[in-house]
Amino acid sequence: MNFSNQLIVWYLHNKRSLPWRATNNPYYIWLSEIILQQTRVDQGMDYYLKFVEAFSTVYELANASEEEVLKLWQGLGYYSRARNLHFSAKYIVNDLNGVFPSTYNELLKLKGVGDYTASAVASICFNEPTAVVDGNVYRVLARYFGIETPINSTKGVKEFKNLAQELIDTKNSGTHNQAIMEFGARMCKPQNPDCEICPLNNSCIALSKKIIKELPVKEKKIKVKKRYFNYLVIQTDNDLTKMVKREKGIWKNMYQFPLVETLCPINEEELIESELFKSLLGTNKVNLKLLQNNSKPHKLSHQHIYSKFWLIKTNSSKNFNQTWQVVKQLPVPVLIDNFLNEFNFN
Ligand code: SF4
Repeated sequence: MNFSNQLIVWYLHNKRSLPWRATNNPYYIWLSEIILQQTRVDQGMDYYLKFVEAFSTVYELANASEEEVLKLWQGLGYYSRARNLHFSAKYIVNDLNGVFPSTYNELLKLKGVGDYTASAVASICFNEPTAVVDGNVYRVLARYFGIETPINSTKGVKEFKNLAQELIDTKNSGTHNQAIMEFGARMCKPQNPDCEICPLNNSCIALSKKIIKELPVKEKKIKVKKRYFNYLVIQTDNDLTKMVKREKGIWKNMYQFPLVETLCPINEEELIESELFKSLLGTNKVNLKLLQNNSKPHKLSHQHIYSKFWLIKTNSSKNFNQTWQVVKQLPVPVLIDNFLNEFNFN
């Protein structure tokens, strides 16, 4: 049996029963693939079910507001995925008359769809033989073939894609792709792979050379940037506050308290001197209190955010008109959601 057949046999006996495996409707497969980018299956499952329930067709997703989509996505991170999902749903409905693209090249034209997602949807839904290469596939191929090229280098990306493409079973490309990803997730795991019971253990190079822990190779990570956020949690005498929409960055179009970002941690006096503080509160009498000081950073892929939430009580309501009930309906980053849950404003 060749490599692909061995994987497929293993897969058919061992695959998990997952809701998106019971369909080959491209809308559902696309949705699941976008959710599962950078997300574990157990975490993504609830989100997938929520989305399918709220938007059972691409038309329903296209007709939703961006705020509704972001609110449902809240907590999953990498929010550009949700914005792109919504944008692409509108494109499919308005420009393609609701007909889902059916080839790798057409799928690539959707915003937020790259080589991996286009390959997955094209192979699973339309049996186009295009190989997927995700983290699981990199690991299986690097170990089984003993490849030491860094998987995050330009050379590595090409080399692994070409190899994956050579190995694909052209008649069962969807099953092959799902088999190799599932095999990486459940058998050839990052830590403690099950080599003893692995059906490929007779011919696995990493196992024979005892270099499993060294593979796959990754080039050094990009330096992590530290950021210091000071949120101004305003509370007026009549219990109003202020939230603003972020205009750019990973949290674009989500809401937050007015934010003073600094290059290092600041104290109360420095906060009062900041431009934003002065423009919002001017010379009004305020009562200022540091309500939450997160010494542990909120970690994103290339940045660590150290946040402080400052409670500012004021008797002026000139700039502030949002109720806490409205605030709770808005899509917010997890950092703010955690704060709101801890300090139950009503
Ligand atoms: S023998 Fe071990 S390292 Fe090799 S493919 Fe199987 S699980 Fe992965």
